[in-house]
Amino acid sequence: ALSDVGLYGLAVMGQNFALNMASHGFSVSVCNRSPDKVDTTVQRAKDEGNLPLVGFKDVKDFVLSLSRPRKIIILVMAGKPVDDTIAAIAQHCEEGDIIVDGGNEWFPNSLRRSKELEPLGIHFVGMGISGGEEGARKGPSLMPGGPRAAFDALEPILVKCAAQVDDGACTTYLGEIGSGNYVKMVHNGIEYGDMQLIAEAYDVLKIAGGLTNAELGQVFTEWNSGELESYLIEITAAIFKKKDDLAGANKDDYLVDKILDKTGMKGTGRWVVQEAAERSVAAPTITASLDARYLSGLKEQRVHASKILNGPTEIPSVDKQQLIDDVRQALYASKICSYAQGLNLIREAGVQNGWKIDLGECARIWKGGCIIRAAFLDRIKAAYIKDPSLDSLLIDADFANELNARHFSWRRVVSLAVASGIPTPSFSGSLSYFDMYRRANLPANLTQAQRDFFGGHSYNRTDREGVFHCEWTDAHHSIGNVAERN
Ligand code: NDP
Repeated sequence: ALSDVGLYGLAVMGQNFALNMASHGFSVSVCNRSPDKVDTTVQRAKDEGNLPLVGFKDVKDFVLSLSRPRKIIILVMAGKPVDDTIAAIAQHCEEGDIIVDGGNEWFPNSLRRSKELEPLGIHFVGMGISGGEEGARKGPSLMPGGPRAAFDALEPILVKCAAQVDDGACTTYLGEIGSGNYVKMVHNGIEYGDMQLIAEAYDVLKIAGGLTNAELGQVFTEWNSGELESYLIEITAAIFKKKDDLAGANKDDYLVDKILDKTGMKGTGRWVVQEAAERSVAAPTITASLDARYLSGLKEQRVHASKILNGPTEIPSVDKQQLIDDVRQALYASKICSYAQGLNLIREAGVQNGWKIDLGECARIWKGGCIIRAAFLDRIKAAYIKDPSLDSLLIDADFANELNARHFSWRRVVSLAVASGIPTPSFSGSLSYFDMYRRANLPANLTQAQRDFFGGHSYNRTDREGVFHCEWTDAHHSIGNVAERN
């Protein structure tokens, strides 16, 4: 019998997603460049209860083992390997077949591949998958973008294999090709932001509040039962509780203290910052989180600089309980700003690329399976249901109330951090974002005056219509309304 679906690429993600589909009763054909991974996957399918999964070591046999229209999901390393794999698969496909790339792909690559496959009549879908190994096996968040008809054909599989939450499966049709990769990319940027905000909360609580790892574990556990409830807060609590069990290590030491303060990354966070700049969307929280990773990488330089550059030597005294409460509120408020930035970026890219992305649906499909899953995504979804054209999450009535109730705590945390020399770029970036967005007047009048002064870039006035320019060095001579003059 022919299989329902094919999966090519059997590393961590592919192997687990293949088993996920098979465990939901879909018959799955699998294939991989190196044949040993095919054997491993087939063996796992046997071990996990004789799941309906067949292995192939030849691409042609693999493709021909699928029922039509063929549905083939690729999960290989992003970039050229995806092109190589598509080329190998497509030559055996027929009109109407569907190829899905599930990798973390730069969205213009998906646009290009979609065009290349069009003359062959092959539908191409770029589908972001989040949730790592466990998500892939038990239910990830699936972010597909491509032809609607292709999504409809895939939908029964995606709906069953995605994470399930109270309001359905964590997948939806996001829009035309590129949209799924884009939403996944921004998801990763938000993930960077969340992780940096948590790191800053840790730093402030540890350095200014003097909290021990045991206390931090306790605090994060408590936070996970309130407004901050989320996967990242949950795993952070677990991290603070983990003792060092390496052979020869002191078993009373905490593992977190032994880990080198240098962060790795694979590049999706950088794409978000590039995109934000490209589309003129302010994303200071996410940008700061990327910068923090770059600076973390300069370990040797930092060790050297720490002997040359000075900061405050004393930390202002604080009420520990008050600090814990303030940091929780600052973290939550900063998080709202970060999600607002990410969602506004998705909206702007959607407008510019002709994708009709429903931001409330984005929030909903992130509720389960993925790394940024969090209780408050429900509230984001509700905000966009209330007003789909909401300019910013910040001004949704409920979020505005929360921000207004928290900003003093937020300011106390950022002030304390500044006074103590504790860098909190994402907390302060978020706070400045909030303060700029809520200001009817910014000092941009001066910036615009300077631009007119040195470059004749002209300016608008607050009291009159028209475009103005002025000879700034001659007090008595103003050229006035440029439009009228011309
Ligand atoms: P990797 O990104 O580590 O890629 C390894 C797979 O790619 C192997 O199957 C390998 O085949 C195959 N491959 C590499 N080069 C080629 C090539 N030229 N031709 C054919 N196959 C090739 O695998 P992951 O499972 O980690 O990730 C798959 C995708 O999912 C990536 O885009 C990744 O960014 C994304 N992703 C990963 C997550 C994770 O937690 N790991 C989470 C979310 C998304 P071989 O066995 O022969 O070497």
